[in-house]
Amino acid sequence: MARPGAGARVQDATPLNALVMAPDTLIIAYTVSLLAAFSGLGLYSHFLRRRFEPTPTEDRIFRCSTCAFVYTDDADVDRSRCPQCGTVNESIQF
Ligand SMILES: [Zn+2]
Repeated sequence: MARPGAGARVQDATPLNALVMAPDTLIIAYTVSLLAAFSGLGLYSHFLRRRFEPTPTEDRIFRCSTCAFVYTDDADVDRSRCPQCGTVNESIQF
């Protein structure tokens, strides 16, 4: 069973130069931990954004040849009637 003062006594027993890190090691450890933190944040925001993005629609896009109105209709429809003027139009591809 560990006593409350046991950890402090072990640290006191270690030599002083073992506790002090070299400046190079300190800078490398700081940079690596900072890069790891930024990478973690980037991955987290990437997955968060993907979860909330709308799924691409399967609807077809139509553009009226008479009034140039752009509208969508179901994916199984080849020709669709314009809701503005009633002209039947073919779907357009990008
Ligand atoms: Zn139209």
